[in-house]
Amino acid sequence: MANGEILPLIVFSLFLGMSILKMGGEKGKLLANFFAACAETSYTLIGIIMKFTPIGVFALLFPIIVQSGVDIVLPLISLIGSVALGCLLHGLVTYGALLKFLGKMSPLRFFRNIFEAMTVAFTTVSSAATLPINMKNCQDNLKLRPEIVSFVLPLGANINMDGTAIYIGVSTIFAANLYGVDFSWGQMLIIVLTGTLGSIGAAGVPGAAVIMLATVLQSVGLPLEAIAIIAGVDRFTDMFATCLNITGDATVAAVINENENRREIMP
Ligand code: ASP
Repeated sequence: MANGEILPLIVFSLFLGMSILKMGGEKGKLLANFFAACAETSYTLIGIIMKFTPIGVFALLFPIIVQSGVDIVLPLISLIGSVALGCLLHGLVTYGALLKFLGKMSPLRFFRNIFEAMTVAFTTVSSAATLPINMKNCQDNLKLRPEIVSFVLPLGANINMDGTAIYIGVSTIFAANLYGVDFSWGQMLIIVLTGTLGSIGAAGVPGAAVIMLATVLQSVGLPLEAIAIIAGVDRFTDMFATCLNITGDATVAAVINENENRREIMP
């Protein structure tokens, strides 16, 4: 931890979590609650820090724009565009295929029925804040079973974040281009691994991906200063990422709903 060795830290945390679960009992619960409280505290702290982000990002971006001129603006627009395109493709192709073939549902009907939740996610940039409306859309409009919705969506809002993973991956490549760094295949694999684990660990709150991005940049040896530039447009990239995150949760709920229906019909 002191040396900023992220991968060993993630692996250690996974095993620590598994051991706490395996241990169970009063002591296990105590430790699990302790770590949950630590996580809650860091979210609160992040929330306070995020309130100061506009001032911080302005102060960080100002000298960069003075030095590099408006030349930096175009790459930033391409960063937003790439995240948006990645999310759109993943939503239409991956989720579309999952819905059509496993969920036996028209993707068009699906997107129309959860459009309200997608809009709320886009504007609040928080999966957690969108959870109630996503559950309502899934239950009332898509007619998914309440027990599936109330299990899958809260779990998904915490750990299923494809948009965030896309955001982290694209931003890391953006930072590498900015500093003229070429990645080896091994490093790419590390980005995929830490990006995916980071997205699972990210909280469903605005700006959570930026904190995870620091971990990924560090794991491939990129300077953390890149965050200052990326954070400047975080609000925009986060809009697309969050929208995809909650759409993914609803997609999985629709697929499981269909699975359960089929299991019950079959003798
Ligand atoms: N804002 C995202 C969410 O709530 C998390 C992130 O990518 O920062 O799903």
